[in-house]
Amino acid sequence: MYNVIIIGAGPGGIYSAYELTKLDPKLKIAVFDTGHSLEKRHCPIDNDKIKSCINCKTCSIMSGFGGAGAFSDGKYNITNDFGGTLHEHIGKKQALELMKYVDQINMAHGGEGTKLYSTAGTKFKKLCIQNKLNLLDASVRHLGTDINYVVLQNLYAELKEKVDFHFDTPVRDVKIVDGGYEIDTDKDTFTCEQCIISVGRSGSSWMEHICKNLGIHTKSNRVDIGVRVELPAVVFSHLTDELYESKIVYRTEKFEDNVRTFCMNPHGIVVNENTNGIVTVNGHSYEDPSMQTENTNFALLVSKHFSEPFEDSNGYGESIARLSNMLGGGVMVQRFGDLVRGRRSNVKRIEEGLVTPTLAATPGDLSLVLPKRILDGIIEMIYALDKIAPGTANDDTLLYGVEVKFYNMEVDLDDRLQTKYPGLYIIGDGSGITHSLSHASASGVYVARDILQTR
Ligand SMILES: Cc1cc2nc3c(=O)[nH]c(=O)nc-3n(C[C@H](O)[C@H](O)[C@H](O)COP(=O)(O)OP(=O)(O)OC[C@H]3O[C@@H](n4cnc5c(N)ncnc54)[C@H](O)[C@@H]3O)c2cc1C
Repeated sequence: MYNVIIIGAGPGGIYSAYELTKLDPKLKIAVFDTGHSLEKRHCPIDNDKIKSCINCKTCSIMSGFGGAGAFSDGKYNITNDFGGTLHEHIGKKQALELMKYVDQINMAHGGEGTKLYSTAGTKFKKLCIQNKLNLLDASVRHLGTDINYVVLQNLYAELKEKVDFHFDTPVRDVKIVDGGYEIDTDKDTFTCEQCIISVGRSGSSWMEHICKNLGIHTKSNRVDIGVRVELPAVVFSHLTDELYESKIVYRTEKFEDNVRTFCMNPHGIVVNENTNGIVTVNGHSYEDPSMQTENTNFALLVSKHFSEPFEDSNGYGESIARLSNMLGGGVMVQRFGDLVRGRRSNVKRIEEGLVTPTLAATPGDLSLVLPKRILDGIIEMIYALDKIAPGTANDDTLLYGVEVKFYNMEVDLDDRLQTKYPGLYIIGDGSGITHSLSHASASGVYVARDILQTR
């Protein structure tokens, strides 16, 4: 019998465990995760013998201590403008305070010395507006993949003394029992008074199943689809040197859709991402200069919101990603020049280009994969970005497809992030409310404090 069981050892789970143990060291806490402990997490892709995803039983990129964030770029965006809608539940002021608190924890666990960038007072705001682009407000702490890992190592070293970690232990079921909850795993059954579910994107199907079983209402209507752009770092260096990450939104003329930049990685690399067996694309970068590349990458995404009767927005995104996997055997890459000329890219044209790809992907034709409306929006935005960062629309700019941001269906939660069952909390990306490291972590601290207030 535990006081609190946390399902998922991603940022949501980690920061809730951190705050619980800090505020009440006597609590008996267990954390369960499908994935491995941090030091055992290794993706087999080495770009030599194994060049693309081999669909491991447990994806080391998405699962284990640190969750999907473990090998991420470690960009903690301190803002209510993007990264989730936590503020709609807990208020803007509190959400920002919690994100700053998480930043302090990170600084005290190995992150000190990393840079905090900010859009406040930047000249780029005006430049963007003059070119029909909207630069969103944010502060961003860039830990980098390497320092992010060090922070996780330090947090684990501290937490393992106070919390029972059960790695490689997927939770199969959560049942309501007298006085709390029963947590079923393949190995054993555990009980607890309060339960925090923080299963992230990789736990989305499982979360759906649990909500169905427990009669917890959910809604799902959004998916973001697009490409990852890779170009010489110099093209964006004036922006990235000052802001590191710039979240820029463009409203397309043709369809009045919003296209936005997402997850900018100066001097970074493009990587594969595997969600439920579907290979999509992502990116990250290192703080250590010796691991940096000459390229910068970022995503261009179009949000698709569906209305009744269609409900399966993730299924729509998956079908498009599957199409690219079917044609390319994984992720596909195309030169911008080839895309606008209506021809596929091939190995020769990419080799002759100015941009050396950082991910081994299959040269192909993204117009055979992406719906016209989405592709037209992306092309329009590339030309708009070219005005503030000349060179973006060069022929040799690489586009990897597809990048999909799946959103978990949004779970019906009160303003304490609690379900209709007292003591059963759902947080982080698994709740559909957060979509980022900072928001997921903040939601963890928030429920930990709530639990301690109500005990
Ligand atoms: C490559 C990559 C780069 C990223 N870069 C950034 C970035 O720079 N900045 C940013 O803000 N965000 C980034 N993100 C997104 C960010 O990682 C997530 O928003 C964040 O990790 C969400 O935290 P979470 O705790 O909600 O879920 P997760 O981090 O997904 O953790 C959930 C955990 O739950 C476990 N789990 C799932 N189901 C079960 C089950 N049934 N039983 C037990 N355990 C289960 C999983 O194994 C996983 O470890 C990136 C994501 C990826 C994949």
